Amino acid sequence: MNETGQLYLCGTPIGNLGDITYRAVEMLRAADVIAAEDTRHTRGLLAHYDIHTPMVSYHEHNKEEKGAELIARMQAGETVVCVSDAGLPGIADPGGDLARRAVAAGIPVTPLPGANAALSALICAGLPLDGFAFVGFLPRKDKKRRELLSRVAAYPETLIFYEAPHRLRETLAVLAEILGAERRACAARELTKRFEEFRRMTLGELCAHYRENEPRGEFVLIVAGADEDAPYADAAAPQMSLAEHYAAHIAAGCGKKEAMRRTAQDLGISRRDVYQALLAEA
Ligand code: SAM
Repeated sequence: MNETGQLYLCGTPIGNLGDITYRAVEMLRAADVIAAEDTRHTRGLLAHYDIHTPMVSYHEHNKEEKGAELIARMQAGETVVCVSDAGLPGIADPGGDLARRAVAAGIPVTPLPGANAALSALICAGLPLDGFAFVGFLPRKDKKRRELLSRVAAYPETLIFYEAPHRLRETLAVLAEILGAERRACAARELTKRFEEFRRMTLGELCAHYRENEPRGEFVLIVAGADEDAPYADAAAPQMSLAEHYAAHIAAGCGKKEAMRRTAQDLGISRRDVYQALLAEA
C-alpha cells in the first residue's frame, strides 16, 4: 500500500454507455473502492464493462459520515474512485464535498475526465462560447429563483441551466419573463441518447413550443448572454408564426399590449398589423 491513497473524480456516461474513457474503465477496475451516488445505478455501468470493484454509497444525505470514512481509507493508502449517476461528480451532483475534504486532508485529487451534460449542450447550441456561466438548477423557491435570475440577467456570458422535465415549463416562463422572451436559447434534450434533440429558438418560442408539447426526458437550457444579438450558427432554426410569437410573450407574463408590441418587434412589422392579424385569427 502507498503511504497516502488518492481520490479520482470519474466522469461517467450521460446516456450512451460508450461515452467513458479507457483510463476511467481501468481506474474503476483498479480502485480499492468506488464511491457511487447510487450503487444500483452504477452497478449497470460496472456490469457493462465487467468491473467487480466493491462500491460504497456516497450521496447528499450521507456525505458527512461516509465522507469521513472515505478520507480515513485514503489516509490509510486506498484509492477511491468517486462517480455520480451521470456525468462529472460535483457538477450538480455529489463529489464536490469529498474533493474539498480530500484537498484539506492533503490527499491527491485527480480527474478522470468524461461526459458532462452542460458542456455537451453548450458546444452544440450555436451560441457564443467565448464566455459562459454555469447556473445549474434554479432554486425551487420563487423569490430565490427570481433573485438569482435578476443577478445573472446582466451577465454578457452564455448561461447554462439544468432542469427536470416536470419543471421545464415553469422555468422557461420565468426565464422568459426575467431575461426577456426574445433572448435566444437552446433546449438540449436527451443528449447522447436515442431521442437527442436541440431546439434553437428564443425563450418565448421555447415557452410556446413546450406549452403545446409535453417536455419529456432530460434537459439542459442554454441561454444567450445579455445583449448578444449575433445570428444563430444554425441557419435552420425553426420559424414561428405571428400567433406563436404573441402566445409566447403572453406565456412569459406580458400583458396583451406589451405582447403585441414585442411581437411587432420580433417580426419587424407595425403593432397595428399585429393587432389586425390577431383579430383576423380570432
Ligand atoms: N453531473 C452531471 C453532469 O456532469 O452533467 C449532472 C447531473 S444533474 C443531477 C442531472 C441534470 O443534468 C439533469 O436534470 C439534466 O438537466 C442534465 N442532464 C444529465 N444528463 C442529460 C442528458 N443526457 N441530456 C440532457 N440533460 C442531461
